[in-house]
Amino acid sequence: MKDIICLTGSDEDLETAASLLKEGEVVGLPTETVYGLAADATNREAVARIFEAKGRPADNPLIIHVSDLKMMEEYADDIPRCAYRLADAFWPGPLTMILPKKNNISDIVTGGLDTVAVRMPSHDIMRKVISMVGRPLAAPSANLSGSPSPTTAKHVTDDMNGRIAAVVDGGECSVGVESTVISFEGYDSVRILRPGLVTAEELSRYVDEVIVDENILSDVVPEVKEVRSPGMKYKHYSPEAHVVLVRYSLEQFIKYVSAQPDDSLCCLIYDQDAENFPFEYMTYGSTPVEQAQQIFSKLREADKRGIKNLYVRSPEKDGVGLAVYNRLIRAAGYEVVE
Ligand code: AMP
Ligand code: MG
Repeated sequence: MKDIICLTGSDEDLETAASLLKEGEVVGLPTETVYGLAADATNREAVARIFEAKGRPADNPLIIHVSDLKMMEEYADDIPRCAYRLADAFWPGPLTMILPKKNNISDIVTGGLDTVAVRMPSHDIMRKVISMVGRPLAAPSANLSGSPSPTTAKHVTDDMNGRIAAVVDGGECSVGVESTVISFEGYDSVRILRPGLVTAEELSRYVDEVIVDENILSDVVPEVKEVRSPGMKYKHYSPEAHVVLVRYSLEQFIKYVSAQPDDSLCCLIYDQDAENFPFEYMTYGSTPVEQAQQIFSKLREADKRGIKNLYVRSPEKDGVGLAVYNRLIRAAGYEVVE
């Protein structure tokens, strides 16, 4: 395939992106969470190209991105009342809802499930392009399957050059981790299947009950047969470097790393840990929101720097920290030290 075309956010370039999508091509697009690998969700061949470009397993379904509620209603059925309440509170934004699907959404999008994942993103470019195409865009993260998600157009080009038609550069993603994914259970009750910037606490202001799926809270590899969301069972977000997640105070963290025999090691720590830190290090912000923004680019940077062993100071396991923890524990292949 030809070299990837790099487009800007100008109206003319967005027209080009929309035309490519209408022709069934795959285009990398910025969203507020991470860059997406977008295709017309109603075009089977186009959607198949997403799976091929990423090397994504066919049973891991895609999220469809809509520009308004009417578009959601065209493809989802029996939408619960509380879904509208949540849409009103969090859309456009980083919340994905799993809803019963209509027949016009193909099995290839949903991995054969009878539900479809829907999100209305807030990034201007993404919403404009969806409106221009006039159809929902299926878009997983624009990385090779298994590797850290892309938060800049450069990350997309690094992974996807020669694999997709074009990428639109919309700058760095503001959220930095993928959307919160929820399903609906019974009356006024939701289950978080993937943590993101929208937290359980925030959701609970709008619904009676919020369940955090046990696979998110657990520190062991999920049982394949027990997952409610296919994405839970796959290896994810892994850089080349060997990642170890360390849940300790700063003092204990330094002690633990001192005892490691590795010659090529680097630590990923909080900004406030950096003063007099005794090993090679990178920092990833000082708050959970900043950690979310930076985590994937720091994992990619570790590989650029040829780091073999990366010891990461674990974020807290609550609020937005839970989203960062969830990505890191997978990047570390569940290697956590407590
Ligand atoms: P990605 O698009 O790479 O950010 O991943 C989308 C996530 O949503 C994956 O973890 C999928 O398994 C999950 N997902 C998508 N559609 C469904 C669905 N119908 N039911 C459950 N999980 C879903
Ligand atoms: Mg992904």
